[in-house]
Amino acid sequence: MSPTSPKPAPRQLFVTTALPYANGNFHIGHIMEYIQADIWVRFQRMQGHTVHFVCADDAHGAPIMIAAEKAGKTPQQFVADIAAGRKPYLDGFHIAFDNWHSTDAPENHELAQAIYRDLKAAGLIATKTIEQFFDPDKNMFLPDRFIKGECPKCGAKDQYGDNCENCGAVYAPTELKNPYSALSGVTPVLRNSEHYFFRLSDARCVAYLEQWTQESGHLQTEVYNKIKEWLTPVESVDGSAVHGLADWDISRDAPYFGIEIPDAPGKYFYVWLDAPIGYLASLKNHFGKIGVDYDAFMADPATEQYHFIGKDIITFHTLFWPALLHFSGRKTPNAVFVHGFLTVNSEKMSKSRGTGLDPLKYLSLGMNPEWLRYYIAAKLNSRNEDVEFSPEDFMARVNADLVGKYINIASRSAGFISKRFAGLLGEVSADGDALLEHLRDALPLIAELYAEREYGKALRETMLLADRVNEYVDQNKPWELAKQAGMEARLHDVCTTCIQAFRLLTTCLKPVLPALAEQVEAFLKVAPLTFVNAALRMDAGHPIGDYKHLMQRVDTKQLDALFEAPALPEPEKILPGGEPIAPLITIDDFAKIDLRIALIVNCEAVEGSTKLLRLTLDVGEGRTRNVFSGIASAYKPSDLVGKLTVMVANLAPRKMKFGVSEGMVLAASHADEKAEPGIYVLTPSAGALPGMRVR
Ligand SMILES: [Zn+2]
Repeated sequence: MSPTSPKPAPRQLFVTTALPYANGNFHIGHIMEYIQADIWVRFQRMQGHTVHFVCADDAHGAPIMIAAEKAGKTPQQFVADIAAGRKPYLDGFHIAFDNWHSTDAPENHELAQAIYRDLKAAGLIATKTIEQFFDPDKNMFLPDRFIKGECPKCGAKDQYGDNCENCGAVYAPTELKNPYSALSGVTPVLRNSEHYFFRLSDARCVAYLEQWTQESGHLQTEVYNKIKEWLTPVESVDGSAVHGLADWDISRDAPYFGIEIPDAPGKYFYVWLDAPIGYLASLKNHFGKIGVDYDAFMADPATEQYHFIGKDIITFHTLFWPALLHFSGRKTPNAVFVHGFLTVNSEKMSKSRGTGLDPLKYLSLGMNPEWLRYYIAAKLNSRNEDVEFSPEDFMARVNADLVGKYINIASRSAGFISKRFAGLLGEVSADGDALLEHLRDALPLIAELYAEREYGKALRETMLLADRVNEYVDQNKPWELAKQAGMEARLHDVCTTCIQAFRLLTTCLKPVLPALAEQVEAFLKVAPLTFVNAALRMDAGHPIGDYKHLMQRVDTKQLDALFEAPALPEPEKILPGGEPIAPLITIDDFAKIDLRIALIVNCEAVEGSTKLLRLTLDVGEGRTRNVFSGIASAYKPSDLVGKLTVMVANLAPRKMKFGVSEGMVLAASHADEKAEPGIYVLTPSAGALPGMRVR
């Protein structure tokens, strides 16, 4: 029996998705993975199992440290700002993690250090002095991605320190010709540094991983085939047999944003060591909140642990991670589930038009998040294969299957129950019973398909059932029965059968369409649908609510808008005053502009300029700023002193004829500032304080 096949309830499961790197917002690939895992989690709960579903931001490493420095923030603040943007995506697509944490949290520092100590005690930590490029200007060792130079193979310029994008060669950064630091531009120097290694080449690790990776259920076959070369002995240059597992460098030198290595001053864990430990840290943090004993849960042999990941991080999760857990005396994953990438229109669209599928744009266009959940589920199987998003296919599946086949069953029958039978269900006769029996008999197969992550097949089976119900509707034609005298009882019977069938189909779709299922439960006045209670039926006399339309069809205009590059406004949209609305920007573009409430401490005329006023502004920084503003035609200096206004606080300082301007004050005007009615400096409502951010 594979670990994913149904066992007696209740099982206790710990499920994660990969931790997103906190250097940017989610893209559609993240959303696909979260939807895949969320469906599985919801399904397991519908089986009566207990599931803890957690994630976290992957916060550490040189790229974040460097990006934070560029943004003028601490790494902590940089990561916190990214984390603050996660919720609209997760809520928007009904992705219901129980906890969202950070790898920079105290739980992760403690766990990473504890796991390291256990590995050290097991004799699996070694040190070695290695020669590495050092940036004398930035005073730091350079990560491979921050060293550039000429490819040692083909001579292409500006290649990264680990591989050449021109010829595909892979090499060590020290092999680059004419290397330079991508941070400072200076020529790096070679320096020695002691590094810490996890001894994956140790015979114990090799033997363990050979066994773990082959054990039934841990890995998909195609994933095992990908990683087995790491474990297969190969002949080395001197003729001896070696395997592909090398010791893993787990340390980085200060300055580094990460977790300190115990008893090793100035050394930090490489981000990939503490990132997966973040799964455990997030679970521990979650258990702290809900009062569950973390140690007892993880020590319980009945606890099952599953990770959903993308194909780009297979080696970390199928070799390093199980070994790290096993040799530190911890529970190892029951399975790692690997998915492929999502491509949009075979990349054609993204290449030629520079557009992908922007999840927030999708939501902002008012597109139903459950359309996307349904479409992605319909395309997913249990294998590590890419998933293709095609707008035409998306529209066909949602409109023809979801709305045309499934929603239609309720919309064709519920009205009669309300109008003709006071909203009460009736008896079901033999032919209806046979149909419902057919549906009930299919439930175990559909549950098995969800358990095996064969969502596409589960939905295909469900739509076959919907086809059967629609055949029944077409044969019995309730709209004609309704017009015939003496057919009242048959009409009640047929419509009741349809509503009972609709309840069963909704159960089958609930892992994918949780919000819709909730609406259906309210409409049918039934307890939350599960696979455990699916075989129950609503009794004759059971009241249902009035049917309200449950789902719209996809409008082709929405899809056009989703993939359209932001268009320039047309001439007729030009507003009074003659200035067209600027091209669309995203919320991220807007977030780059740091607008602050500023107190105008002083204001004076500028000698030699009829246009400018010199403003002295306080934005709560403990110093004042000098800003020139072209508002002299509309304001006298005394009009403004002591007033509050709004300024762009992160505009690069500009050297002007009369001095340096350190920002810009916001004012409203027509394109032609001399036209009536002039220029208006913005003022916040009463209560705003200097330094507050305007969002
Ligand atoms: Zn090359």
